[in-house]
Amino acid sequence: MLLKVLGTAAGGGVPQWNCACPECSGARAHPRRRRRHASLAVRAAEGRWYVVNATPDIADQIESCPELHPGPEPRRTPLAGVILTDAELDHTLGIARLREADRLELLTTGAVRDAVLGRQHLGELLSPYTDLTWCELPTSGRPEPLDADSTVHISAVPLSGKRPRYAVAVPAGPGDDGHWVSALRLTDRATGRTAVYAPALGTWPDALQHAVADADCVILDGTFWDDDEPRRTGISARTATAMGHLPVDGPDGTARRLASLPARCLYTHLNNTNPLVDPTAPQHKVLTRMGLEVAADGMEITL
Ligand SMILES: [Zn+2]
Ligand SMILES: [Zn+2]
Repeated sequence: MLLKVLGTAAGGGVPQWNCACPECSGARAHPRRRRRHASLAVRAAEGRWYVVNATPDIADQIESCPELHPGPEPRRTPLAGVILTDAELDHTLGIARLREADRLELLTTGAVRDAVLGRQHLGELLSPYTDLTWCELPTSGRPEPLDADSTVHISAVPLSGKRPRYAVAVPAGPGDDGHWVSALRLTDRATGRTAVYAPALGTWPDALQHAVADADCVILDGTFWDDDEPRRTGISARTATAMGHLPVDGPDGTARRLASLPARCLYTHLNNTNPLVDPTAPQHKVLTRMGLEVAADGMEITL
């Protein structure tokens, strides 16, 4: 299985267009610190790739990844579809950027599909441009091949019923409350190796613990370093956990849990307030001592 990390930032990116905080200013001064919105490309088969989440950066991410470039025929793209872990705007706005496609396959849960089609009216807005087709992601326990020729099998691990702000009033459908935010579990049956991708993680349910226990690689929500970071930096009156992101550090942080796993563990989806966006920050040493990593844009992971 081949994974390409297309971006590693939370909503807004690094730098964020309207922000001059030390981290955003640092990224303007040092362009190598820039991070695009969190996204991952998964190779289903030779010349066929899926992208996890359609970020506002998706066209730039495709250009920066030669495996996703079109060819040899002028309009043939290796992009077979988009997998959505949730319906947040930073993970779905890029669908509109792909409207030049004749048809676009989206894999996600029913709750996310209904949010994107219903509230955002993205489906209606885009129908004159492209044909959105939807595939329900299988849930954990019943993984299915990514597509017909693929040895990569996928399943969604339901994480929570946290809705995006634009969909807070959407009533819960039968059984969909855990399906607004999912982790993805990807197993290559050719190599027997497994990756878990969870860029938005507000709780750590048993299903996730089960999914990561025997994984070889875990790429996880690293939005905030500590629980108070959003309040301390003035971006929100809520804690990280209340915003739907377990912090990295602290007694309920994810670092302790990840450090106990045999998997290679990397953080992604870093907010521009997170000290980890500065490569000289001492927090990197804390993670290194625990055997944990921070994912970088452009990183390639072979499993
Ligand atoms: Zn996000
Ligand atoms: Zn900033």
